[in-house]
Amino acid sequence: MISLVTARDLARTYQLRRGVFGRPVAVRAVDGVSLHVGAGETLGIVGESGSGKSTLGRMVLGLEKPDGGAVTFDGAPMPEPLTAAWRRSRARMQMIYQDPLGALDRRLTVRDQVAEPLAIHGLGAPAERMEKALAMLGRVGLSRHVAMRYPHELSGGQRQRVVLARALMTDPAFLVCDEPVSALDVSIQAQVVNLLVDLQESLGIAMLFISHDLRVVRQVSRRVAVMYLGRIVEEGDADDLFADPRHPYTRALVSAAPAPGGKRERIILTGEPPNPAARPPGCAFHPRCPLAEARCRETAPALMTLGGGRRVACHVVAGPAAATREAA
Ligand code: SF4
Ligand code: MG
Repeated sequence: MISLVTARDLARTYQLRRGVFGRPVAVRAVDGVSLHVGAGETLGIVGESGSGKSTLGRMVLGLEKPDGGAVTFDGAPMPEPLTAAWRRSRARMQMIYQDPLGALDRRLTVRDQVAEPLAIHGLGAPAERMEKALAMLGRVGLSRHVAMRYPHELSGGQRQRVVLARALMTDPAFLVCDEPVSALDVSIQAQVVNLLVDLQESLGIAMLFISHDLRVVRQVSRRVAVMYLGRIVEEGDADDLFADPRHPYTRALVSAAPAPGGKRERIILTGEPPNPAARPPGCAFHPRCPLAEARCRETAPALMTLGGGRRVACHVVAGPAAATREAA
């Protein structure tokens, strides 16, 4: 599949200061992540909070500047600094955040904010923009009554539909969704996820779908990458990866999620949850890993390609079976 979006070796370090007189601590949020998303394809990114998923999503869209690495969209490298032409092509890439209320302007009616991206990008006459906004609201399952309301008058699920309608107005080729349903009631989550999948498939939009919720990622994604402390530790076809997780961290995550059609033995991880400000040496997962060996404490495993499009970063699991070492 030809890639629409390619990220190569992306890295981002923050300087955090603890307290007023504290010395700055370097926090490596994302550490050498490479990925690609084909046209119309969905790549799910799963990981705990602090794994660098959101930073990765923002860098892929050019909303945050990486310290290292490169992103290309539709074959064109993202320029540095961002040019006007690249910003215009941003109309074809949109972000959906977790908090729909924060993403909406409280002073604008639903119709006006859905129409706004067309005005921003200078597309269409005012009357056409309003017509398209109303049609798009219908497409996301909102009635015309909602069009003249304000964000605070809507439910959380309705607001996220408005955000989605707004994002779709410029006919994007690529959406980054960062925990798009995490703030919604569980009963509403499924409706919004189904809508997202419907629209993504019918409009052929490529998507980077970020979530800590395996269940949701599994439903949405064709391929999945698992992140741990700023790195991808496993990647593969979604069905294969959930059926046969290889990396010890993925195994634990999958064992904790409800398994369709069968019981799975739950793997309980011990040790501290990941803290990006205190990254363990070697394999960052070693303090919690049931398979850890002496070499795991010293050398970080490279992401190795196994058969069937699977990539795994683990000395023990990928060791002898690995076909090729990933070029960094
Ligand atoms: Fe566990 Fe070692 Fe594999 Fe890391 S490299 S996941 S510590 S076995
Ligand atoms: Mg996040």
